[in-house]
Amino acid sequence: MAFGFTQAFRTFGRLALAGAIGAGLAAGDVGAEQKTPSPGSAKALFGGASLPTQGPAQPIGFYAKGCMTGAVALPTDGPTWQAMRLSRNRRWGNPAMIALLERFSQDAVKYAGWPGILVGDIAQPRGGPMLNGHSSHQIGLDADIWFTPMPSRRLTAEERQYLPFTTMLQKNKFLTVDPKVWTESRARLLMLAASYPQVERIFVNPAIKKKMCDTWTGDRTNLGKLRPIYGHDSHFHIRIKCPPGAAGCTPQAPVPAGDGCDKSLAYWFTPAPWAPPKPPKPGAKPPKPPREMMVSDLPKACAAVLDAASVTSMQAATYGGSSAAGGPSAASGPSAASALAAAPTAAPATDDDDGELPDVGPVPNDKPAMQ
Ligand SMILES: [Zn+2]
Repeated sequence: MAFGFTQAFRTFGRLALAGAIGAGLAAGDVGAEQKTPSPGSAKALFGGASLPTQGPAQPIGFYAKGCMTGAVALPTDGPTWQAMRLSRNRRWGNPAMIALLERFSQDAVKYAGWPGILVGDIAQPRGGPMLNGHSSHQIGLDADIWFTPMPSRRLTAEERQYLPFTTMLQKNKFLTVDPKVWTESRARLLMLAASYPQVERIFVNPAIKKKMCDTWTGDRTNLGKLRPIYGHDSHFHIRIKCPPGAAGCTPQAPVPAGDGCDKSLAYWFTPAPWAPPKPPKPGAKPPKPPREMMVSDLPKACAAVLDAASVTSMQAATYGGSSAAGGPSAASGPSAASALAAAPTAAPATDDDDGELPDVGPVPNDKPAMQ
């Protein structure tokens, strides 16, 4: 490798312990993030929208600050996918994202030796900041895919709600992929996802990126799309570009050239992201807690998105369904509908994962942005 991971491990071996302690802090962090948003906050309002708007699909704003119109739902079941955590009502996305997921799931079976994908959170019906978890996923162009393969049978709604995440990391080591869990097929799955021109970034845990850097012997052209970020050890996160003609969509800078197996990755194996916060100076005022995001903090059009008329039903806006949502017909049949009906209507209180933070391993104190 171009830089000294081994040395980094020697130098920062003790960080493993620090990391384990950091995971303890993380639990509190998650708790803090999941406190119920205040009525009237952007999280509460967008999280309360149960159906998308009518009309053409438009992402509005940026991945981490925006909303969307005209979303379509990924059917709960397709021949090569199953949607998870149905009660969250986060199967909504821009049609370009939903179409990609369908295509990716088919290609995964054909080319990656993967039995089908389990799809986690995409977005809320009108996007916006989520009730809990995730800083992005706001404009329908982000989707989480589990590293767990789709089973050959259809999972029940309850299984989809409670099936635990499986981390790809070794539990007692600092940022290390578990060789007993990681497989070649997962590496192929990631590179397949990165191969689509509309996919701009795929977020994975730094340990997974390192594993890919160290072991991927195929074409490395798209390896740079794999971006290291904390969490993302039991799922990966696909982000697509603003679709052509989406005038209100704020694009993200393209990823830097190269495979990304460089200092941007090495950074995660240094103490910097994991350093404990500096203690406040004696007598200093405690810092104000961050203000909740309000609708007025989002692009102006998002207030109108909240007020816009809904589609007539979830079925009418399900991809491949009877509406003008488009796309080939997928399995959105009665079994999918009944699975949904059987799903609890509210997220259970025990829902202690937010889809982004790691199950094990450290969480940086000063959470760096997803890049
Ligand atoms: Zn995600």
